[in-house]
Amino acid sequence: MTEDIPSDHPRHDSLVTRHRIEAGVDAGITSRQGLIAEGRGEAFDYLLGEETIPSADDAERAAAAQLLLAEHPVLSVNGNAAALVPEELVELAETVGADLEVNLFNRTPERMEAIADHLQAHGAPDVKGLDADERIPGIDHERARVDADGIYDADVVLVPLEDGDRAEALAEMGKVEIVIDLNPLSRSPRTAAIPVIDNIIRAIPNITAHARSLESAERDELEAIVADFDAERALHEAEERIRTGAGQEQ
Ligand code: ATP
Repeated sequence: MTEDIPSDHPRHDSLVTRHRIEAGVDAGITSRQGLIAEGRGEAFDYLLGEETIPSADDAERAAAAQLLLAEHPVLSVNGNAAALVPEELVELAETVGADLEVNLFNRTPERMEAIADHLQAHGAPDVKGLDADERIPGIDHERARVDADGIYDADVVLVPLEDGDRAEALAEMGKVEIVIDLNPLSRSPRTAAIPVIDNIIRAIPNITAHARSLESAERDELEAIVADFDAERALHEAEERIRTGAGQEQ
């Protein structure tokens, strides 16, 4: 299906993304709610100009520095992230020394297994989330389940497309959260230490690229990048772009 879309089609990337989500649903990786999430994301991305705006690039650099500074970074993977960027997530995990953990809002054993298998088929040596032997305090049973030696133990967690409640609960546990979400008004990026207002398709490879270029940086330099990042400003600039088109070329 994807190969039928001409590469010069004005909505090429958006259509490819949509097809990947459809294929994710067919493969039992993405939930039906994931289709709705995709639709919401597409609308915001359209208004952002379907590009990484400068403040999102800053956030992606800060995210890379934060992941490199972490003792135990974990990349949380849901059904949309697994359908859209499986290989890119494996590459980022490898670059910053992070664990990958499947963590679903609509958790079923079949979907957990399908996502873990999908990540492994894309090169992940180990995937966490299936043990689910700990809980995030303050949220209801199924959504709270995490691995004791994964998200529960992590100091820095990257959560793409997270729901607001769980993002708040993770922040209350003292985790440093990096949230990728196209909606700057959503609660999850507003809870994050580092909100990345960008499409996960562009964000993950760009965080990896920044991490590679910072690999030999001193801790001081990484700490300064994180300290200089202004979350409020990043949220504000994304909202400005969406509401007014400020800074857009055409
Ligand atoms: P909250 O509880 O945080 O307010 P919500 O109800 O707004 O969440 P959902 O509809 O559950 O959010 O989740 C979808 C979110 O994921 C939306 O904010 C949407 O913009 C975002 N999203 C969807 N696709 C992508 C994508 N490819 N990259 C980044 N973000 C995306």
